[in-house]
Amino acid sequence: MSDFLNARLPDGRRVTIQIENGQFSGFSEALPGSVTAPDARDLGDLLVLPALVDSHVHLDKTFLGLPWRPHRSGPSVKERITAERDGRADLDLSVEARARVMLDQALSHGTTALRCHVDIDPDSKLDHLSQVMDARDAFSGRIDVQLVAFPQSGLCSAPGVHDLMDAALSDGAEIVGGIDPIGIDGDLDGHLDAIFGLAEKHGAGIDIHLHDPGHRGALELRDIAARTLASGLGGRVMVSHAFALSTVDDQTLDLTLTDLAEAGVAIMTAVPGAVPMLPVARIREAGVVVCAGSDNVRDAWSPFGNADMLERAMLVAYRCGFRTDEGLAIALDLATEAAAQAIGLGMWGLEIGAPADFIAVDAETVAEAVVNRPPRGYVVKGGLVVAGTLA
Ligand SMILES: [Zn+2]
Repeated sequence: MSDFLNARLPDGRRVTIQIENGQFSGFSEALPGSVTAPDARDLGDLLVLPALVDSHVHLDKTFLGLPWRPHRSGPSVKERITAERDGRADLDLSVEARARVMLDQALSHGTTALRCHVDIDPDSKLDHLSQVMDARDAFSGRIDVQLVAFPQSGLCSAPGVHDLMDAALSDGAEIVGGIDPIGIDGDLDGHLDAIFGLAEKHGAGIDIHLHDPGHRGALELRDIAARTLASGLGGRVMVSHAFALSTVDDQTLDLTLTDLAEAGVAIMTAVPGAVPMLPVARIREAGVVVCAGSDNVRDAWSPFGNADMLERAMLVAYRCGFRTDEGLAIALDLATEAAAQAIGLGMWGLEIGAPADFIAVDAETVAEAVVNRPPRGYVVKGGLVVAGTLA
């Protein structure tokens, strides 16, 4: 059992946070002279928020740890895939070393759980997976890392990738990845047959990168929803990006959201700057879980990104036009509880029985924390302080 004194909750109550077996066991309003655990830590009236959850990263792609590299690739998805593969030989730091730098940075920003897509392709085969697994082991107990076997260069169209994905899932990857069944593989049925087949074989969830826009993307989303329903995988399937939801007409959007909600398919946005923003409020109103993720953090795809999910929440609010305190709280939800739900973490947040994962920051309210992105004074995982500028 451990206590954290003088914590300020989002509802304004000043409490002692009690923790047992790594879970919140109480939020008691402090009484003068009340007995606390001998190892209790004083949070000094900082605002306590749920720990951040990054629902989409690529630890094997980041350039963090290397000197600054100018962005070189062309604008299309295919150009970026090629530029990234061609540039791998120039990187002087191993995948594992770069992944460790990024995990350390994410942790310092208050992320204690994340989902990582790892490239599985004909060149790198399972090498990135084994190196990211080593980095994950080094952060055991500080950040929980889910691994997605991700066919970045295509699944049906890239030789041997289906078998490599199968092996990756046997070796410890937990989620089946996918990418633009039509736009990259040119084979909607073949791609989705392969993904859902691997998920069934390994008892795994699914997370598909879907950049295909407009009605082509909406068709793919509705096919994914239908297959999710048919396979009983509701609650374990996510579509990342889903640009189609911001580039179709209203009627198609409504029909697509209805299918996604019924099937239990979640949506992830990385809040990209150069395409229309997803209609987050409308997606939530339709009953679809929508969350945020960093996606690319200083890599061949983008020079932007810093693995700070509080900043990503600010970007959600900024691009969605959320200005009220309620809107800013929704933005934070995309980086905490909704993200935890989308990637299947179970209970998350400041409630009894949830994992005692939280951050403490110098801010008056949730809204101010999202707008200002203050330094994380304390980052706590399972009741233990694991990072923070005041730790
Ligand atoms: Zn991605």
